[in-house]
Amino acid sequence: MSGPELTPFPCNGCGKCCRVVDRSPETVWLDRGDGTCRNFDEEARSCRIYEKRPLVCRVQDYYVAHLATRIKWDEFVKVNLDICARL
Ligand code: SF4
Repeated sequence: MSGPELTPFPCNGCGKCCRVVDRSPETVWLDRGDGTCRNFDEEARSCRIYEKRPLVCRVQDYYVAHLATRIKWDEFVKVNLDICARL
């Protein structure tokens, strides 16, 4: 997808968001039954389908597809980092 260059989302790979997919209506379908995503690899603490993960897990792509006209990228990053800190 073309568009303005976005600074990469500063994900530290903690994997917390992949463990609470039951908390959002957009990700609940990924829940394996205990709130963790069915694609999350506990040992490696990473996504088993990273290259093919759904749009909702792709921060930049999701932003461009759904939010770019409503909120600035830097602001979106800030909001998300606040959410990360509260997980
Ligand atoms: S699909 Fe991958 S990136 Fe998305 S919540 Fe599941 S483990 Fe995390």
